[in-house]
Amino acid sequence: MRHFMAIMAAGLMLVWSGVALAAPPTKAPTYAMASATTLAPSGHHTWDKSLTREVALPAPYHPVRIIVIDPGHGGTNEGAIGVAGIHEKHLTLSLGLRLAEALRKHYPDAHIVLTREEDYFLSLTDRIAIANLLEADLFLSLHFNSSTNPEAIGFESFWAGEYADQESTKLGDDEAARNRKQQAAPLAEHMANCFNQAMSERFDVLDRGVKEGDYTVLTRAEVPAVVLEFAFLSHAVEGLAATMPSQHDLMIEAVIEAIELFQYQPLP
Ligand SMILES: [Zn+2]
Repeated sequence: MRHFMAIMAAGLMLVWSGVALAAPPTKAPTYAMASATTLAPSGHHTWDKSLTREVALPAPYHPVRIIVIDPGHGGTNEGAIGVAGIHEKHLTLSLGLRLAEALRKHYPDAHIVLTREEDYFLSLTDRIAIANLLEADLFLSLHFNSSTNPEAIGFESFWAGEYADQESTKLGDDEAARNRKQQAAPLAEHMANCFNQAMSERFDVLDRGVKEGDYTVLTRAEVPAVVLEFAFLSHAVEGLAATMPSQHDLMIEAVIEAIELFQYQPLP
């Protein structure tokens, strides 16, 4: 029942977004910048306001106005359970809520939507349906990894790659849906690359790479969609660290930087 509420909420948000997005920003953000300082009689440095001018940032290659954050698992779907004894679903939710809050501060004009804000079950198709419905600029599915190999360590990311086409054939997607998927594909791969780049600057662990994943939230995506695996809960050290708020701070920083890179780097 609750996931219907989420879909209903997504529908309402769509209406709300539609209104809000009726007049999208047409110019790049500007920042006040003082070009010089003067020495005041008191001897303190002050800004000379007459010299303040506005400097326009270049427009992003891939502007992001709607971001859907998907905390993986939930409810009866508990996800991995790691060395700390905490289920993945709780970590993804706590990280997702804090990430959404940080993104709302960082991008006050953007719409940041969570697929779930509490601990309940939500199907994979419903999760990606929310992003497709909203025509999100990014869909980020948050996960923590697990392996039977206790040595497995590091972060990795996934986009649909060739699996998107296979799913389209299976579902009998029409041409419009296939086109939307084709347009989204290079952007999804781009976002995955940006994520790994930003993570490798902050975590001195193995970068396991950008991979193609046969996951429903990716193969049914008609928007740029990625699955982000932040750390291995099954690793003795990384699994404990992954439960710490200070580590989540770094993960949130990495995602925000990745979104900046995504917007301002041209496609390779
Ligand atoms: Zn997971």
